Amino acid sequence: MQRERLYRTLAENSPFAIRRLDNEFKFIYSNKGSSVSELSKEDFVGKTIDEIGMNEDIVKSWKRCGQKVFTTGENQEIVNEIPLSNGFITFKSTIVPEFDIKDEIESILVITEDITEFKKTENELKISKENFRTLAENSPDTIIRLDKDMKYAYVNPVITENSGKPPEYYIGKRYDEVGIPEKYVKIFEENNRKAIENGEIQRYEFEFPTIKGMKYIESIAIPEFNANEEIESLLILDRDITERKNFEDSLKESRAQLRIAMDLAKLVSWQYDVESDLFTFDNHFYALYGTSAEREGGTLLSSEKYARKFIPPEEVSIVKEEIDRAIKTDNPNFVENMEHSIIRADGEKRYINVRFGVIKDKNGKTIKTFGSNQDITSLKETEEQLKETIKELERSNEELQQFAYVSSHDLQEPLRTIASFTQLLERRYKGKLDSDADEFMDYIVEASVRMKAQIEGLLEYSRVGTKGEEFKPADMNEILNKTIQSLNTSIKEIDTNIKVDELPVVMGDGNQLQRVFQNLISNAIKFKKQEEPLKIHVYANKDICNNEYVFSVQDNGIGIEEQYNERIFTIFQRLHTRDVYEGTGIGLSVVKRIIERHGGRVWVESSFGKGSTFYFTIPISGSEF
Ligand code: ADP
Repeated sequence: MQRERLYRTLAENSPFAIRRLDNEFKFIYSNKGSSVSELSKEDFVGKTIDEIGMNEDIVKSWKRCGQKVFTTGENQEIVNEIPLSNGFITFKSTIVPEFDIKDEIESILVITEDITEFKKTENELKISKENFRTLAENSPDTIIRLDKDMKYAYVNPVITENSGKPPEYYIGKRYDEVGIPEKYVKIFEENNRKAIENGEIQRYEFEFPTIKGMKYIESIAIPEFNANEEIESLLILDRDITERKNFEDSLKESRAQLRIAMDLAKLVSWQYDVESDLFTFDNHFYALYGTSAEREGGTLLSSEKYARKFIPPEEVSIVKEEIDRAIKTDNPNFVENMEHSIIRADGEKRYINVRFGVIKDKNGKTIKTFGSNQDITSLKETEEQLKETIKELERSNEELQQFAYVSSHDLQEPLRTIASFTQLLERRYKGKLDSDADEFMDYIVEASVRMKAQIEGLLEYSRVGTKGEEFKPADMNEILNKTIQSLNTSIKEIDTNIKVDELPVVMGDGNQLQRVFQNLISNAIKFKKQEEPLKIHVYANKDICNNEYVFSVQDNGIGIEEQYNERIFTIFQRLHTRDVYEGTGIGLSVVKRIIERHGGRVWVESSFGKGSTFYFTIPISGSEF
């Protein structure tokens, strides 16, 4: 009896609805069951299941399952959903048999519990699992879930791209069972341990070997908690950041290279903000301006302070004007150079080249100017030295010319005396002294004639620089014509064929250019081959690239051996003795000087025994005529 009371008390106070039905499905007991139904126990007891107005589907399912319990004696479970205006109520009913003393089923107990909340949570969990799976399967990142034992519980398909193994391969295995190199197993385990111990997300980057080569991976390990706030699993997201890393690396590298280049070029970069009137210099500012961060209190300077501290007073206005010009310009691509000196903090004067541009706002107003300053002191010094050297050279050249001119001019006088007195001696005493004396006198006369020619040559050579005329348009056709006429006798003498093409007009000294043709053509005549009639061809080409005319005087003479191509243009240099070919060795050196005075070059191309071509260039003057 006591037990009976205990059960009753238990049943009465249970949160479940407990009902007893006989084999005709009549309720013979019901507890309060208030949490499950609004009907009171009186609504049930004494009535059959069809009489209480329960939902038809529930009645049917209770009857079906109840019947099963009566016949089989086995427990049955039914879940019923009752639609409400705002969703569903879900009941779970367990039907159990009650036996009499003969072990026959006398009645059944239907224990009903409201599992709506549980169902809802279960559903939500299902949805969130499905969402996770959809996300994970479509994610570009590798997603791994490790269970409590650090075994793979889930792996998305991205892993196959890197390892070649399908996701199923991993499930239930640990890191060291899936072919990950030991070194990485250690790294992963260490980070997972931290995530688990601290319960905090771990982020780390590492380089990892994949079947597609080394990849940079950014990994995030997220601890996942269960309802009891215990860590149940670890979610690991691995993102391939190789491209970003490579980009970052190359960016770093090019920044470093730029820095090195700027260091090498001793460049200081700066920005000037128009509105605040402030210059911002980079860290190299200190080195160039001979100061330090402590002394300047930073690299931010007002234009007034910068000018006062570092620019010599006499140059301040020039610098200001230039910066003003940059501020006022309409040209968004404005880039200019200016050179000025600076006074370093230690008082040393240095020259800088400033290259600067502008940054404009959308209204075209200059908001910033920016630029780089380069120390060009040594360049400036070299430039100054070079200027000095050139001046020095010009002076000594002039002196030399003067000397050559004066000496050759002055030498003519005593030489004339020697020549005339030797000739006098010869006239008076030839045949009166012995034969040796006659021979000696011949030598003296010959030598003085030669010397005269040489001195005249030298004089001519020195006159190219000192006695030249101003450059005027000179028609080279006319000049060549005049030359040919002046050489007419010798041309006719040896039956020469001169072919002349149309020649241009150049800016130059007509007389000197005539001298050039004269020397070249008379050489061609002099150095002709005995056995062949002489052919000379004079022509000119325009060389657009070098902005010059190239004149050519071609002959079919004896030619020159290649090794002498340079030497023949040096004064007094000859390749033959006088008894074979007459001459002083001055002609070509005069040609060279004249052409150089005109800003051109001269050279020869020759085939020994076949002929030579002498080339000379004259620059095309600014205005073509
Ligand atoms: P010169 O004619 O008085 O000897 P140049 O200075 O005019 O002096 O010439 C230097 C040398 O160059 C000549 O002695 C000769 O050997 C060589 N030369 C000049 N022109 C020609 C030419 N057209 N053909 C072959 N050799 C030449």
